[in-house]
Amino acid sequence: FNENLSNLGTNIFSVMTSLSLQNKSINLGQGFPDEEGPDEMKRRAGAAVFEHTNQYPPMFGIAEARQAVARHSAAHSGLAVDWQTETLITVGATEALASAFMGILNRGDEVIIFDPQYDAYIPLCIANGGVPKVVKLDPSDWSVPHDQLAAAFNDKTKLILINSPHNPTGKVFSVEDLQFIADLCKQWGAYAVLDEVYEHLVFEGSQHVSLRSLPGMHDRCIRIGSAGKTFSLTAWKVGWVTGPPALISAVASAHQFITFTVPSAMQHAVAYGLDNEATFYRGLGELLHQKRLFLEKQLTDVGFRVLPAQGTYFLVADFRDENDVQFCQRLTIEAGVTAIPVSAFYASKDPPRSLIRFCFCKDDEKLRQACAALKKYF
Ligand code: PMP
Ligand code: GLN
Repeated sequence: FNENLSNLGTNIFSVMTSLSLQNKSINLGQGFPDEEGPDEMKRRAGAAVFEHTNQYPPMFGIAEARQAVARHSAAHSGLAVDWQTETLITVGATEALASAFMGILNRGDEVIIFDPQYDAYIPLCIANGGVPKVVKLDPSDWSVPHDQLAAAFNDKTKLILINSPHNPTGKVFSVEDLQFIADLCKQWGAYAVLDEVYEHLVFEGSQHVSLRSLPGMHDRCIRIGSAGKTFSLTAWKVGWVTGPPALISAVASAHQFITFTVPSAMQHAVAYGLDNEATFYRGLGELLHQKRLFLEKQLTDVGFRVLPAQGTYFLVADFRDENDVQFCQRLTIEAGVTAIPVSAFYASKDPPRSLIRFCFCKDDEKLRQACAALKKYF
């Protein structure tokens, strides 16, 4: 079978979640929130099955959802898009990424991706003929190594993938970094795929800026969003892509063969949410910040060094000198708390080995219990 994929084994989130279930540990591994998004969206998803037809919706998405995505883009990022030529609805951000790689890449095109990275990028890139060029963020503070990044660009560079706010580190890319990246894209004629699924999950004092908003980048970038993250409804798997017509039509040319359409009832509910539930997603950043501060303090008290972050629902902590994979197994089995080894987010051969990722979008009681278990164990 496909060795590119079979060599990668089962993804780390499934592995750690099943280990957590076997050991009945508190799961701070896989990133999904305990507190789910707006009830009215759920009601509307159910009602939509009866109120609308249940046959294939349009390939690009239903008009209501595409119009709502366009309004959301203009209102929250200041990026006006034409809903008819510059939006596409996908089956989650995951399908958006797959369709982007499949629709944009030719065999041998190079794709610049930062390490650490979300685990789907490399397999999807390789499966679609891309050649990943990995640049490591500096693990001491997750800064972008400008020299190495500049050296990675050449005339084969087709794309750079930017995930900001960033999984697993929680880093929000600074305007200076984005400007540096923008200049390189323009110099080498490269495009950018912007995985912005955590765009609303930013802590007070920080701001998420999209690379697409920088001068000269409007026609070089596609932005990917996710209803799962925006509304804390990760099972829904509704995503969206916005960008210039040429890139949207390239992504759609793949989307039509991968999934073709997205369940229409969910699109109706997401359209409602984008237009009416801004209070929910605008409040997420502050809610999560409080949870992060709590976990950060408790982890520091038991001897972890917590790395800085500005957003998402992930926290990276440095522990003592032990292999991170074994440490996460030991924590699950012996302490009853599950985290994810950060080396699993690295494509390069020599990842840092003392970092683990905790997900803190959990209810306060669960976070308290996890911290109490860690205190007892250490
Ligand atoms: N990108 C990043 C950075 C993620 O963390 C995730 C996981 N939630 C996704 C994409 C996939 O999002 P979705 O569930 O909408 O497919
Ligand atoms: N995005 C989530 C995380 O990083 C989980 C995605 C998955 O389970 N594949 O934890």
